[in-house]
Amino acid sequence: MNNYLAGVIESEGGGGKHLDYYKVQALMSRTYAMKNRKRHRKDGFQLCDGVHCQAYHSELKHTPTIRQAVEETNGEVIVDQNTELVSTYFSANCGGQTCDASFVWNTSVPYLESFIDTFCIHTRQATWTKKIKKSSWKYFLANNYWVTEKEVGDLLYNFEQEQRKAFFIHPSLGIPLRDLRKKFRLKSTFFNSHLDGDYVVLNGRGFGHGVGLCQEGAMNMAKAGYDYRQIALFYFHHVRVVNYYKTMYFRQEEVGL
Ligand SMILES: [Zn+2]
Ligand SMILES: [Zn+2]
Repeated sequence: MNNYLAGVIESEGGGGKHLDYYKVQALMSRTYAMKNRKRHRKDGFQLCDGVHCQAYHSELKHTPTIRQAVEETNGEVIVDQNTELVSTYFSANCGGQTCDASFVWNTSVPYLESFIDTFCIHTRQATWTKKIKKSSWKYFLANNYWVTEKEVGDLLYNFEQEQRKAFFIHPSLGIPLRDLRKKFRLKSTFFNSHLDGDYVVLNGRGFGHGVGLCQEGAMNMAKAGYDYRQIALFYFHHVRVVNYYKTMYFRQEEVGL
């Protein structure tokens, strides 16, 4: 397991990061592996080595810090209030406010609620800008949601979210921001927009879905001296970090590893 985790962390995150950041990654990758260990049961193995499960490239260098992080957190996982392994979602940068899981997947998860994260706001991927042709913006909204300039006026282009929202313009129009992100390949759903000539200009924050742990924020927390448990508990709420084997007492099923 520890060999596998070191490989996953190196494959997914690369080298050169702080020990406590790698420790959080170790907790998350181990939690994921334990939670999904039956994912490929019908194929005759537990986890695949692609991004479908967790990327694991062979012939890794296993930087000593990653090894150390895995070994010093040996057996530790993140569990929720019912001692169930959590879903360890993460994204590159939350843009200063994490996204509630329900905005992305329609299901609320107590430990994946939205909150303010100031650890990531001055980083490389904290902000972005994108220009989209006014005509394709209009066309997409009219064709998929029957929302037109006639109906909503300038709101079709002038949109603001100080706090993260789930829907564009107004929830009653039923335009999930995640649909716009997908269609226009936006870095995140956390953006404001305005019209500039023939273009809709989007000024956005963050990179990724924004749910769960924010990688750039977590890196900054580690650099600032927070330890891995504090980082894990900052990004996942109402959870505990426990040794998996000690929680088996609460379980009816076999561990199987
Ligand atoms: Zn897989
Ligand atoms: Zn963040």
